[in-house]
Amino acid sequence: MNIKNLTLLSVVACLLFSASCQKDFKEKHDGGDEENLTSLVTKLGFDTLNMKVSGDTLWVEDDIVLFKSKLSQTSPRQAIANPPGSASVPNLILYYIAPQSALGGFNSSEEAAILAAIASYSSLTNSNGTTYLNFQRVYSLNQAHINFFGYSNQRDANLCGFAQWPTVNNRILNPGDVYINLAVTRGTTGTISPLSHSQLVFLVAHEMGHAFGVRHTNWRLLGEPQFEGSVGAYTVPFTDNSSPNPDPSSVFNGRTCGFYWNGFTAGDERAISWSTQASILIQ
Ligand SMILES: [Zn+2]
Repeated sequence: MNIKNLTLLSVVACLLFSASCQKDFKEKHDGGDEENLTSLVTKLGFDTLNMKVSGDTLWVEDDIVLFKSKLSQTSPRQAIANPPGSASVPNLILYYIAPQSALGGFNSSEEAAILAAIASYSSLTNSNGTTYLNFQRVYSLNQAHINFFGYSNQRDANLCGFAQWPTVNNRILNPGDVYINLAVTRGTTGTISPLSHSQLVFLVAHEMGHAFGVRHTNWRLLGEPQFEGSVGAYTVPFTDNSSPNPDPSSVFNGRTCGFYWNGFTAGDERAISWSTQASILIQ
């Protein structure tokens, strides 16, 4: 999922995030002091080496979008993977799928893949054996916590999709939105053939992870940094993530567009549980 040319995609992103694009990075920080943008992103634990900036939108680590205006606000705050109890997803996560009739809308088979990915999340169980992520479809994007949008970037044949990083407001983790590059997934650009149902489910499940605050499992391999302390990236507890490629079958490995869906690994499930702050952490 390399990003080679962000110009057009950034324009699309700006159109889609029109409200955000008009903001300047002048909002008050917690302490009231201006901080360096790179420093703020570093504090969140992201690799700033290849960070791309377009208006209010920041691209990091290939397929994760942050917003300058949310980096340091107390509420909502651009989230990191928080310790248990600090924030959790809504009890009922409302989602919206752009219909085929809309700009960037999905056809029926793409919609089926999105629904399959959501079903995979909703079937996850905690250590009590009960499900902990509950979803409900809505038909107005204004009502949804997660919006699924398609877009078309012919010029970036390697970026299959991306997701916004979540925010936190009043201890609620507000998931980001998921964007799928239909030009790539439909095979109209680049060398990737149209993605199959299985490949689309993998892609959507991967991006949904980012929308909940899950980072790349193979972050060491990709050169994405780890930071210690109260902010930044760290290994999810109860996962054996200590080597460059600790979980080759993880849905959350980066640079995996075109991979086939084979379900979540045990480590994936722990990462999802950790990031969404389920009431009972899977061990
Ligand atoms: Zn990713």
